[in-house]
Amino acid sequence: MRDTTTLYQHGTLAMLVAGLFEGTLPLGELLEHGDTGIGTADCLDGEMVIVDGQAYKVQGSGTVVPLTPDTKVPFASVHFMDAQEQRSVVGVTDEQLKQQIQTEMKMDNVFVGLRIDGTFSHMHTRAVNKQERPFPNLTAATRVQPEFNADQVSGTVVGYFAPHLFQGATVGGFHWHFINTTRNFGGHILDFTIDQAEISVQVLENLVQHLPINNTEFRAKNLDLKTLSDDINEAEH
Ligand SMILES: [Zn+2]
Repeated sequence: MRDTTTLYQHGTLAMLVAGLFEGTLPLGELLEHGDTGIGTADCLDGEMVIVDGQAYKVQGSGTVVPLTPDTKVPFASVHFMDAQEQRSVVGVTDEQLKQQIQTEMKMDNVFVGLRIDGTFSHMHTRAVNKQERPFPNLTAATRVQPEFNADQVSGTVVGYFAPHLFQGATVGGFHWHFINTTRNFGGHILDFTIDQAEISVQVLENLVQHLPINNTEFRAKNLDLKTLSDDINEAEH
């Protein structure tokens, strides 16, 4: 069933913080729960973005690779796109946009799926490098990250707002990824300026949190909750 009210998440950000980078869910299964979303691939290999049912990863080299259904993911969030509100915006930065929609739409306590289609006068991203075993923790893995810039680029932003209450399960606040129209540029968004775009907003009523219960490393791992929030802020913002 195409349930447009639910945010489906596989894995938790806390698991990535602890260095659990092994892919534990095939993309094909993830896509049964949504056609739009973000995440990362096996071994923390790049920034994943899912648009219209097709997943791509933006690797640390900057290369964009379409993903096949057998690709395994350690952490991802998806939903079925069905925007409740759409609006056109012109000439705003990501910070201005965040303030506008967060205040106007009273988003603080709800999960929100966001999609932005348009032209960006500037887009600034980064992408994490694939990690090798033994895996470091997330802050060590993301300390060196290639950054990418593009001007006058058209494409799609996909991401979420999550209540700060859920920092740990995911990133509290905004977390969004970008892919351009020609599918050869993208990544985890650091900042942008919109030239002209359509914003689609979807407030999601349910959270399904799926865990890799058959993964022995996950089952045995001790998560350090004391430093979790600081580690997330260092690695993800
Ligand atoms: Zn990201």
